Amino acid sequence: MPKFFVKASNILENEIIIDDENVNHMKNVLRLQMGDEIIINDRQGHDYKCIINAIESSKIRACISSVADSSSEPSIEVTLFQSLIKGEKMEWVIQKAVEIGVTRIVPLCTSRCVVKIENPKKMASKVERWNKIAESAAKQSGRGMVPEVTPPMDFNEGLEFATEKGLFAVIPYEKEHEQGIRQILKNTSSHNFGLFIGPEGGFTEEEVQEAIRRKVHSVSLGSRILRSETASLVTLTNIMYEMGEMD
Ligand code: SAM
Repeated sequence: MPKFFVKASNILENEIIIDDENVNHMKNVLRLQMGDEIIINDRQGHDYKCIINAIESSKIRACISSVADSSSEPSIEVTLFQSLIKGEKMEWVIQKAVEIGVTRIVPLCTSRCVVKIENPKKMASKVERWNKIAESAAKQSGRGMVPEVTPPMDFNEGLEFATEKGLFAVIPYEKEHEQGIRQILKNTSSHNFGLFIGPEGGFTEEEVQEAIRRKVHSVSLGSRILRSETASLVTLTNIMYEMGEMD
């Protein structure tokens, strides 16, 4: 059954109004008709089973037949603090992280980021594009919500955010030789994780020390150096696997 995401405000008591770019897709690509069954998701983890009951020029109305929590959502939450990396790689990480089950992506500006926020207007349009990529990956992978890509934060703001949200946070660091990711994940019962990944040039020693001071766990991902985008997806997958979300 085709699935679409709409704003929660478009969900009324008994019916849902679709009045965005989904209308064109439903009418002209999928060629849906009156009486067809569809799933509408409110972007917040709820799936509404509906029947199309009106097709207008720029609107589709669908009658709600049942509602349930989306079964495809992991029971844990993971916020990925991804240091800004070059163009396509950032987009690739967002797409794949959404497929794997990330809850939220925070683009992070760190001292060694090559990508800088010079023009706020340009950055705002990048964030908009990243959110579109997240939405399309969520649709494609059958997610029950659309993970948000927040505006960029600097490293300390990211740490503050993690503390405020009470995240069990890890910072993979290639110079960490004492503590591995598996070991740290085995010893937690947390359901709310944070994951800090450095840019192409890595984190500075000072950044890692500051993170540790704020109770973020420095971990190794093994003896090979992974590219930033590989490290993100490997760690995210490890968290999902260790927490039993890949069975
Ligand atoms: N500083 C290094 C350099 O420039 O050669 C590598 C940085 S690495 C490309 C980018 C990020 O991936 C790191 O900041 C870290 O978060 C993560 N990372 C990559 N390999 C890792 C490993 N073996 N253990 C822990 N973290 C790793």
